[in-house]
Amino acid sequence: MQYIKKYFYSFQMLSFSAIFIAFVAFITNFIPNFVYYFLWQSTFVFLMIALSLSVYFSKSKLFVLLLFPLFFNLALAFPTSIFDKLSVSAFWHIAPLCTALGYLIIYALQERGLFSYFGLLRVGIGLSFITMGFIALKNYSPSMQKALDSSILHVSLSGLSKTSDFILIIALISLLFIFLISLLFEVQTQKAPFWMLLAQLIPFVFLHDKNSFILFSLIASLIAIAALVHDAYRMAYIDTLTGIPARRALEEAFLRLGSTYTIAMVDIDFFKKFNDKFGHDIGDDVLKLIAKELTLVKNGGKAYRYGGEEFTILFAGKKQEDCILALEEIRESIFKRGFVLRDKERPTKPPKESVKPLKVKKERLTVSIGVASSIRGKTPQDIIKIADSALYKAKENGRNCLISL
Ligand code: GH3
Ligand code: MG
Ligand code: MG
Repeated sequence: MQYIKKYFYSFQMLSFSAIFIAFVAFITNFIPNFVYYFLWQSTFVFLMIALSLSVYFSKSKLFVLLLFPLFFNLALAFPTSIFDKLSVSAFWHIAPLCTALGYLIIYALQERGLFSYFGLLRVGIGLSFITMGFIALKNYSPSMQKALDSSILHVSLSGLSKTSDFILIIALISLLFIFLISLLFEVQTQKAPFWMLLAQLIPFVFLHDKNSFILFSLIASLIAIAALVHDAYRMAYIDTLTGIPARRALEEAFLRLGSTYTIAMVDIDFFKKFNDKFGHDIGDDVLKLIAKELTLVKNGGKAYRYGGEEFTILFAGKKQEDCILALEEIRESIFKRGFVLRDKERPTKPPKESVKPLKVKKERLTVSIGVASSIRGKTPQDIIKIADSALYKAKENGRNCLISL
């Protein structure tokens, strides 16, 4: 449940809403005709922005996927300069097929940056697909149409969509494949292609209208831009190991602070020994778990990874006495929790014969906390230093305790 909630929160919801609003606006004729003239220009501008950003962030997947709406929009905008004549039926048969197949292949290749062998290979494959699409558009024939229109399913889907069974099936396979693979990724630049393809498919499958294609290409480019910006933001402000806000986000939060606040510095006890005993990878796993635990702090505290195995909890607008209880609670819960660890000697493969059950080790870890509150005339950085010296005292005091100054 939590996962579903998380998935549909923020970026996914934003993409879905953009597509839904565009769909409703189009079918209710909410957008006056003259607006589409400006949409032409906007679509090209936003596609160019999205392409430039994907070059800047070296995202070859998004770069190539954006070439599909770009080239098919060009085909619609300048049909007579590119083709002798572009048949309407050709466009609505070839463009969806080329887009769905192209997305499927391009998405399946692993992201390895743009200016690398794999990146350039991806660009090459994408351009070959588009070229094949353009050749098919140029040489479109009734026999080609007949082949694409041949009914495959026993149940006709013509009531459901405006496209043929064959194209619809390819489109659905591509959409489903991208959706399932995108679940494996956290970053939005890997999730965006699903929404971009969905946006592209709506005019192909349901609307068969030139203006709708422009509108949904604009939506696809906006989704790509949002994903690129979102990931850039995450890279700067979110700690990659623990997934909680990083020190840069804390410094940003300092700028928004009022005159009253409390800062807690939290440091894991004897973590070096723990790393030496269990290895750095398990140390990393435990850091993640502790970070997660710290995010549960009550009374409005927000946890940040300050660096290494040190965390900061910031209580904006709170006096020290209002925070101690919440911090003690979190210290206590980490102490009580314990961490179940995989034995280093545990075989990676399950044993063939039944053996004595392995002993499950529960390792206890504790944290020490130093707390300080705002003082008139002192900056949050000064207060961090005071909280740090409180933390030092907590360590001297035997660890697993809280000292406030
Ligand atoms: P104390 O109780 O005095 O805090 O002892 P300590 O061993 O925790 O303190 P110290 O600062 O000497 O060591 C911190 C250790 O944290 C050193 C390093 O091995 C570990 N550490 C820092 N960052 C990471 C990380 O990202 N991953 C892992 N696995 N370990 C880290
Ligand atoms: Mg430590
Ligand atoms: Mg430390």
